[in-house]
Amino acid sequence: MPQLPLLRADVSLQPLNTFGLAARAATFAVIESEEELLALRHSSHWGAGPALVLGGGSNLVLTRDVAGLVVCMANKGMTMRKTPDAVLVECKAGENWNAVVDATLKAGIGGLENLISIPGSVGAAPVQNIGAYGVELAQRLESVTALDCAAGSLVKLSRDACQFGYRDSLFRRSPGRFLITAVTLRLPVPWQPNLTYGELRSLDASSLSPAQVAQKVAAMRKAKLPDPGEMPNAGSFFKNPVVPCERLDEIRVAYPDIVSYPAGAGTVKLAAAWMIEACGWKGRALGQVAMHERQALVMVNRGKATAAEVLGLASVVEKSVFEKFGVTLEREPIVI
Ligand SMILES: Cc1cc2nc3c(=O)[nH]c(=O)nc-3n(C[C@H](O)[C@H](O)[C@H](O)COP(=O)(O)OP(=O)(O)OC[C@H]3O[C@@H](n4cnc5c(N)ncnc54)[C@H](O)[C@@H]3O)c2cc1C
Repeated sequence: MPQLPLLRADVSLQPLNTFGLAARAATFAVIESEEELLALRHSSHWGAGPALVLGGGSNLVLTRDVAGLVVCMANKGMTMRKTPDAVLVECKAGENWNAVVDATLKAGIGGLENLISIPGSVGAAPVQNIGAYGVELAQRLESVTALDCAAGSLVKLSRDACQFGYRDSLFRRSPGRFLITAVTLRLPVPWQPNLTYGELRSLDASSLSPAQVAQKVAAMRKAKLPDPGEMPNAGSFFKNPVVPCERLDEIRVAYPDIVSYPAGAGTVKLAAAWMIEACGWKGRALGQVAMHERQALVMVNRGKATAAEVLGLASVVEKSVFEKFGVTLEREPIVI
């Protein structure tokens, strides 16, 4: 008979979210295996299902206590299998994403180097289709295994079934439906570096290894992004807005320097950090929260930030950008 996980009452979530916001879970369970998860799903403790699934807490803004069950995925394991044209890497949801990237690089396998140093768990990576330096998870994903909470059984979803978009997926659009237990990555052989983004363009593709690209990306991230261990944050607070090319042309009349990237099908991504900086918010604080001095897209907790301060600063930044550029910013972290 599979064991139920230990259920604890009234647990602080403050050390479990990288923004360091104070919130409590009424009931909290750490899940170490699929069997434990299924046992919980079919027990009376499940109720209406988890109010929150927690990974590393690096993409969350907790504005309140969570009244129901909080489930933290901590199942571990990783295997690599070679096929003629790829290496398939299966990782359990509770693995640390960056540890998986490191392990593939140490094994001499390329494909994840642009996604190095992204905090959080493997299980959360498909939720917002993590991306950095010109690569998105969707480009390296074979399938996702998840508990279909409604059906009560495990399902395997192909990449197409996950409906990935820019920082978006089926999982993000249907919260509470799927609880991801494992992810299988497909890393193509031979390796092709992706050097399309920013400073990576200056690298010489003919004499590069995946580890060297990773080193460069990690160094660029370190120079730009605040370490949540030193200055709590949840990474980029806003997505880069995607607008039709004609809209960019209109904005360029007044702001010729606006930064944008092609986003396909007659659209462009506007650099939200550039617009926030142009509105004067880079490095500016309101109480215990601020837009970071090196990366205007990242909101930081200067010590004892409250959820009201976080939401307050987010609102005034959104208002400034809308008033100046007529563009609506969308928040990237999940707000609970
Ligand atoms: C300093 C910093 C830099 C960052 N840089 C990047 C970056 O470059 N690119 C990028 O894309 N993101 C970035 N992020 C955001 C974050 O790292 C990613 O979104 C990451 O995937 C979140 O993982 P997590 O385990 O911490 O998720 P959590 O914050 O715990 O959860 C995020 C969401 O996923 C859901 N979830 C978590 N686990 C599961 C599961 N097993 N099944 C179903 N749902 C689940 C949660 O319910 C929640 O809705 C950054 C964050 C920080 C703090």
